[in-house]
Amino acid sequence: MQPLKVHMFECLQDNYCYLVHDTEANVTAVVDTPEVPAIERALAETGWQLDYILNTHHHWDHAGGNEELKQKTGCTVVGPAADRDRIPGIDIALADGEHFKLGRHEAVVYDTPGHTSGHIVFHFAQDGMAFVGDTLFSLGCGRLFEGTPTQMWSSLSKLRERLTDDTLIYCAHEYTLANAKFALSVEPDNPALVARASEVEALRARGERTVPSTMRNEKAANPFLRPDSPALQARLNLPGDDLVAVFAETRRRKDNF
Ligand code: ZN
Ligand code: FE
Repeated sequence: MQPLKVHMFECLQDNYCYLVHDTEANVTAVVDTPEVPAIERALAETGWQLDYILNTHHHWDHAGGNEELKQKTGCTVVGPAADRDRIPGIDIALADGEHFKLGRHEAVVYDTPGHTSGHIVFHFAQDGMAFVGDTLFSLGCGRLFEGTPTQMWSSLSKLRERLTDDTLIYCAHEYTLANAKFALSVEPDNPALVARASEVEALRARGERTVPSTMRNEKAANPFLRPDSPALQARLNLPGDDLVAVFAETRRRKDNF
């Protein structure tokens, strides 16, 4: 089986959008729909025809183009069951542990509430990639618009458990440089973070992308995946027996950073 192809492109201010393509079956999906003209351009460049929209969550910079694209291409809209009422044009609603097949490539869906109440992640385990929307960013995580710290920590720890170190993390925004600055303020002596931050700075200075990251990178450097780090706990003046409290305080500080 040939590997899935991913065509990545910029949308709006700082969104990333992805065409995912099974060459043998000639089937194509777009992960979220921030901006229709940019998606149409990407389809024209690749010569791929849109079959599916895979929505991670309902925000307009992720599902805003659903209806126009569905009307123009006849594609099928796949999204979170928990938020089916807020996903325009949804045809297939998926919940935790359910599968989606793109040609012969299978993704398992994880419910990852916190940023929104019905956020999902698409994990193509055999292809070593995950589309994580606004749940996990490189060196960061989504803001808690609709969920609690307990929910978000359980979502992130699910990803930490299920995504192997080599998994490519395709997130939905280029926020890494700002995230790095914050991360250094709470874990300044983490060598993996210091290394990643300087790599990110160099990449952005050259106008290059910091995405995809790897789960290995994120486990080592992303403070939102590291509430069990004694150095982070000490910095926040919190004991290590309550990971949700450490996560919540890290998130609170980022909101005010
Ligand atoms: Zn969002
Ligand atoms: Fe977003």
